[in-house]
Amino acid sequence: MAGNYSPEELYQGLVRHKLIIPVGVPGAFGRGAEFERVLSAFNNAVTGLARDDGAEVMTFPPILDRQVFEKSEFLDSFPQLAGSVFSFSGTDAQHKELSARVHEGKAWGDLQSMTAVVLSPAACYPVYPSFTGTVPDEGRLVDMQNWVFRHEPSMEPTRMQAFRVREFVRVGSPEVVIEWRNMWLKRGLELLLSLDLPARSDVASDPFFGRGGRMLAASQREQKLKFEVLVPVISEEKPTAVCSFNYHQDHFGKIFDIKTRDGSLAQTACLGFGMERVVMALFKTHGFIPSEWPKSVRERLAL
Ligand code: ZN
Repeated sequence: MAGNYSPEELYQGLVRHKLIIPVGVPGAFGRGAEFERVLSAFNNAVTGLARDDGAEVMTFPPILDRQVFEKSEFLDSFPQLAGSVFSFSGTDAQHKELSARVHEGKAWGDLQSMTAVVLSPAACYPVYPSFTGTVPDEGRLVDMQNWVFRHEPSMEPTRMQAFRVREFVRVGSPEVVIEWRNMWLKRGLELLLSLDLPARSDVASDPFFGRGGRMLAASQREQKLKFEVLVPVISEEKPTAVCSFNYHQDHFGKIFDIKTRDGSLAQTACLGFGMERVVMALFKTHGFIPSEWPKSVRERLAL
């Protein structure tokens, strides 16, 4: 299978081996037991690497305070990817109307209104408001895993509408943050190479919306604010990002009033492993049956 790339074949292979379970909507599928076993094994390997880093572990729900989302400026850059939660809060008469329209297959969106939450567009967003104030000299480090929503319906299996990200966030002085980012760039690449994945790192940019977005993407590349670790999963020419490193400079420091002890704005950086993408990279590279994977890979993952 290695060397032969096709999104359809990968999707069909994953379904055939009960690794993923179609649910109808593109970009959303169930995960089978073996898929989850590999995902946990990789997650444990990440935990092992970070064991002595002293991170605070935090767990957030897959929804985000809409005010935090609005402040984050996500909609300025990626309106096409966001998912907002709407709900019904009407009268009895409006409820009758709602039921009738749903049963008749008519549009019913206008009978719902915006709630105080949106779906998390990135695993790290809920954490920044908790940094408000002055961070200690050594900064802070948070470890989290969360479901993320992206409005990108696609039958291409690595492009999902909902997926999990294991993410670490660092806040502190620019020196602290950049040194930590560089350390993980090396560490993340080494981890993936140790699993016999043909991984490499590269400067990257985000999918900014519209014409203005092209300039933002170019400037992000130029300043080397984003790096990705890439593995060919559905294409050799367009390898899949399985890990991404974002240096936000003082973006979140400014928005959420986060300072260092000398009174300057704190900087932040985050790195996230796209858990499903790592798992798919493993199945693509080593085959759909983990017991047949190379011994060194199984040992590294304790599978
Ligand atoms: Zn992040």
